[in-house]
Amino acid sequence: MSLPTVVIVGRPNVGKSTLFNRIVGEQMAIVENRPGVTRDRKEVEAEWLGNHFNLVDTGGWLPGGNELDEKVSRQVEAAVKTADVVLFVVDASVGLTEDDESVANWLRRLESPVLLVTNKADNDRRENDRWEFLALGLGEPLAVSALHGRRAGDLLDVVVSNFPAGTGQPDDPADAIPVGDDGERLWNPNDIAPPRVAIVGRPNVGKSTLFNRLVGEDRSVVHDMAGTTRDAIDTVVETPDGPIVFVDTAGMRRRSRIDDSAEYYSMVRALRAIDAADIALLVIDATEGVTSQDQRLAERVDASGCPIVVMLNKWELIEDPEKRLEVSADVTRKLYFVGDAPILKISALTGKGVHKLRPVLQDAIEQYHRRVPTRDVNRVIAAAQQRQPAGHGVKVMYALQGATDPPTFTLFVNRELPHTYLRYLERSIREAFEFGSTPIKLRVRKRSE
Ligand code: GDP
Ligand code: GDP
Repeated sequence: MSLPTVVIVGRPNVGKSTLFNRIVGEQMAIVENRPGVTRDRKEVEAEWLGNHFNLVDTGGWLPGGNELDEKVSRQVEAAVKTADVVLFVVDASVGLTEDDESVANWLRRLESPVLLVTNKADNDRRENDRWEFLALGLGEPLAVSALHGRRAGDLLDVVVSNFPAGTGQPDDPADAIPVGDDGERLWNPNDIAPPRVAIVGRPNVGKSTLFNRLVGEDRSVVHDMAGTTRDAIDTVVETPDGPIVFVDTAGMRRRSRIDDSAEYYSMVRALRAIDAADIALLVIDATEGVTSQDQRLAERVDASGCPIVVMLNKWELIEDPEKRLEVSADVTRKLYFVGDAPILKISALTGKGVHKLRPVLQDAIEQYHRRVPTRDVNRVIAAAQQRQPAGHGVKVMYALQGATDPPTFTLFVNRELPHTYLRYLERSIREAFEFGSTPIKLRVRKRSE
């Protein structure tokens, strides 16, 4: 695993060591209230929300100082040049200094992203002092208090969002996303942990029949493995597109115990399966339409953040074209809250329509794992705000995708956004990046201006 390197620079006494310690979460560097105490370059591995990186504290940066300082500065220079992200720390309690300006002049020529960190923003007033540092031409200053931990999490969100694609991910292949030649993250079903699919629905809608159909159709090697919960069995199916794991298939495989089937996929069991899955196939019996129990289950699946594909089963039993239209409309209306979830009309019994599942599954899973570069997120948000401002001076100042599975975006706003406006931004993001039916989460963080 290649770890991105985050290098902390800044003139002495701005709080670099304190920030280093804050990020690492333990006291590793000596902090003293005296310029230049932290001479040694300190390097440790740190982690934020599953993103691992090397953190380097460069000690002093003293442009044009004495001999010792020059040596230190050369070391700093070397460290900064290999950095993936540079944290340029300035002191909000002191304000902009000439030394800050000369460091900034040099940093502006770097290719790596430089984040301007105004430290010692211990309170709201100090936080506002950061705007003075806009003059350094290094973008929006990020205010933190390294000493008190204030806004440290916000800073780290921005830091990890600036990592080059494919770095800093944990070793767990389930979480790793390979990188293409252009540096973008790719999702390739053969390279990473197989998608995990849960088949859920009321008793007798045809879950077992569908499962057997999916397994049989692939004429594939099927093997069991211990499921994520004690009495669960997962089934791995090898397909031409790579393996698929069907989560908690115990009830579907042991068909001799028919009596259990009503119990097996009760709500509780379904929800447990969904927790362990990347995507849920919600099976509905077309001859009965969407019942209130189906609705409740769909609501719960949706609330868990798991993307849904609706399998409208036993479709061959409805022959009358008019009746078919009626059933279709009924499903769309009663499941309106799952948004753009694909609806597949199938017959698990005859196999008709089941082949349509594979491409839908691949798309949905790819969307679930997709990560959008920060600059693109901001481009889309800026355009959306230009098209239709929120009004009353309410603004999203910065946005980034903090997580995948499901895609989660953090919006930094100056004031509370109206709910309808959030829906509008969500729609803009969904459309711009073609997220389809994948649930998207928006987190809103308020920043005082
Ligand atoms: P460095 O020379 O840049 O590594 O700075 P240090 O981390 O050694 O910090 C210099 C001084 O600033 C120490 O007395 C710290 O306690 C203090 N300091 C660091 N961060 C903060 C902060 O967020 N707020 C306040 N009030 N003081 C801080
Ligand atoms: P489960 O309880 O959800 O696992 O449902 P089963 O797979 O056991 O199916 C319940 C009943 O519906 C069985 O008698 C199946 O043969 C029947 N069934 C399942 N899928 C279809 C279908 O597409 N068409 C028809 N006509 N019957 C089906």
